[in-house]
Amino acid sequence: MIERGLLIVLSGPSGVGKGTVRKALFEQDDIKLQYSISATTRKPREGEVDGVDYFFKEREEFEDMIKNNKLLEWAEYVGNYYGTPVDYVEQTLSEGKDVFLEIEVQGALQVKEAFPEGLFIFLAPPSLSELKSRIVNRGTETEDLINNRMRVAKEEIELMDAYDYVVENDKVENACARIRSIVTAEHCRRDRVSARYKRMLEVE
Ligand code: 5GP
Repeated sequence: MIERGLLIVLSGPSGVGKGTVRKALFEQDDIKLQYSISATTRKPREGEVDGVDYFFKEREEFEDMIKNNKLLEWAEYVGNYYGTPVDYVEQTLSEGKDVFLEIEVQGALQVKEAFPEGLFIFLAPPSLSELKSRIVNRGTETEDLINNRMRVAKEEIELMDAYDYVVENDKVENACARIRSIVTAEHCRRDRVSARYKRMLEVE
């Protein structure tokens, strides 16, 4: 019997560095996590590739995905839709592989409803001023959008209680190391492994 993989959700306010941390995590060769590519109606930023960074969709296409229950979760965030295609997640978990989602907070809360047994990690900024300067330095947003993102970020930090772990993103490599430790520890949890040992004892 194949044990289902672990569903790992990395979330936290926009600008905290979720994308950067996720990319750094997946650059490491020994990583065994499967990244779930999201769908979005946001236009590609320079260098972004369809099917690699996101599945870029028109609003109508995205709304069809919602209607046809093709998304595990979705959210409208600062004027665009973002969502997680459900088939990939289900298929990969049933193959016994861990799936990694990097999504905003509203979506993470929906995943928690559907998969309470998932592993929910909140990526936190060292401070609000640091968060603002990261959003500003990214240089892709207008002033209105920056203020909007900061307002959303403050609301999101208040939702931290729904998570299992909080990882401060002081430095990308530190955050990655903490996430790897959490995933390793999670695989050793008694309630995750005890059934396997009980089966082993029955065979002996
Ligand atoms: P960006 O436009 O900067 O790529 O992403 C904006 C926000 O959407 C980020 O917080 C990112 O984590 C989040 N996001 C990306 N994919 C998904 C998804 O599939 N679902 C949800 N709910 N949020 C997502």
